Amino acid sequence: MKYEGVLTKMRTEIKDVVQYYLIWENDFINMNQLINKKISLNFLRYQCLNCGLEKKIYRQGFCYDCFSSIPQAGDWVINPELSKAHLDQEDRDLEFEKRAQLTPHVVYLANSSDVKVGVTRRNQIPTRWIDQGAHEAIEIVEVPNRYLAGITEVALKDHVSDKTNWRKMLTNDILDLNLEEEREKLKEFIPEEAKEYYLANNKETEIKFPVLEFPEKVKSLNLVKNPFYEGVLKGIKGQYLIFNDGTVFNIRGNEGLVVELNVLV
Ligand SMILES: [Zn+2]
Repeated sequence: MKYEGVLTKMRTEIKDVVQYYLIWENDFINMNQLINKKISLNFLRYQCLNCGLEKKIYRQGFCYDCFSSIPQAGDWVINPELSKAHLDQEDRDLEFEKRAQLTPHVVYLANSSDVKVGVTRRNQIPTRWIDQGAHEAIEIVEVPNRYLAGITEVALKDHVSDKTNWRKMLTNDILDLNLEEEREKLKEFIPEEAKEYYLANNKETEIKFPVLEFPEKVKSLNLVKNPFYEGVLKGIKGQYLIFNDGTVFNIRGNEGLVVELNVLV
């Protein structure tokens, strides 16, 4: 079987174990079914996810020009506390920003290597947690807009990490923690404006990933520098494919690359 198309992050479904789907223009693959099979990846060219042109990808699957101008790549995406739509102030496109920002957002704790705090739109739960490779996660507050979520995250970052250690996540060097207790400890640091939105009763969500064998050491595949790779898929965690030789490939980090994927055995 041979597939060709531009990479976009895998769609997921939370089941007993997470189900992963790689979406092509007129087709899709349930990636779980490729586990224990030999596959190859071949980098062909770039294709910006916004303009569709064959231009070098800068970030988030966009070429530099698109990344610098389109509303879905504004600074408030990565730094939610910079959101201004609630003040009726435009960054790049006020209508877009209102739709994206003035909607319920959740600040959460996710444990993928160490516990980290993060922000997402409510309708992105549990997708966001799966994408981060979190084996457990819990909501802290649910607020009416992105700005409030952003300032809550900033306040909590002083007391808990906001980064994932992807090597630990992929080698499964992880701890099972009681996130309800962790949430309780952070409660006093929630900013005044967001205190009323504290979620005292939500329970931990547990997530199981389809991985047969975790590597002891991981090396990240750079498909642009090394345009051909072949290996046996041993599992999927977060947005990473994990291979038998410890190679890992971050699908999300390679959005905008046109590849050929071959299923060999
Ligand atoms: Zn572009």
